[in-house]
Amino acid sequence: MSSAATVHQWHLANGWAGIGYHYLIRKDGTIERGRPRDTVGAHCYGENWHSIGVNIVGNFEVAMPTDAQLDAAERLVARLCQMYGLRPGSRTIKGHRDFNATACPGQNLYDMLPDVIAGVGEIMAFHYRWFSHDEELTDEFGVRHSRALLDKKKEPAQPTKYARGEIASMIVALAAFCYGFWTGIAPFILFGAAFLIYEVRRIMPAVFGPVGVPIANVMRGFSIVTLFGAVLLLFL
Ligand SMILES: [Zn+2]
Repeated sequence: MSSAATVHQWHLANGWAGIGYHYLIRKDGTIERGRPRDTVGAHCYGENWHSIGVNIVGNFEVAMPTDAQLDAAERLVARLCQMYGLRPGSRTIKGHRDFNATACPGQNLYDMLPDVIAGVGEIMAFHYRWFSHDEELTDEFGVRHSRALLDKKKEPAQPTKYARGEIASMIVALAAFCYGFWTGIAPFILFGAAFLIYEVRRIMPAVFGPVGVPIANVMRGFSIVTLFGAVLLLFL
């Protein structure tokens, strides 16, 4: 019976860098690791650079794959699809003969490929439920959005309108500012200024666009410092 170790020896004898497949599934359903998953395989001429090679041991021109092998293949491919963000289907799960002039993987197994794909889909149904919004994660060309863009989408929009209570408090703050200015009482000036700056900062992004965001942040910092100054002055 072929194991990954013996195939490794054969492929070394071929002058290859050891076993050409990434995985090998033995008749008893044991999944063996071949070439590391993050290295290019030597399993399918012309398609190695973007595919994972899974060898199911047996001559399926004459024999049938065992149930254990089919079961293991479905579990393995489901996990691979999940890892690489692939939807199981006839475009992602292929037989060797789809690309090269070969009988591989044998007529019997090749005929069962749609069943294997269906089995993978069943295993992945759970995965789908959690990641069913995949479309929203990609742009119109199917290219994934960057993390930064996804985070930005989740951010609530900056409010640009003031509630009535906020307008009232701004008028009070303005009155305090004017009163402080008029009488020369510094804490009043600072309290008023702090509240006004804190409220006005919010419309900065709407007024100045992207540049308004850092401006708003600076204003917030400035207003907090001013408030501290006012409190300090009050108690000095
Ligand atoms: Zn093959």
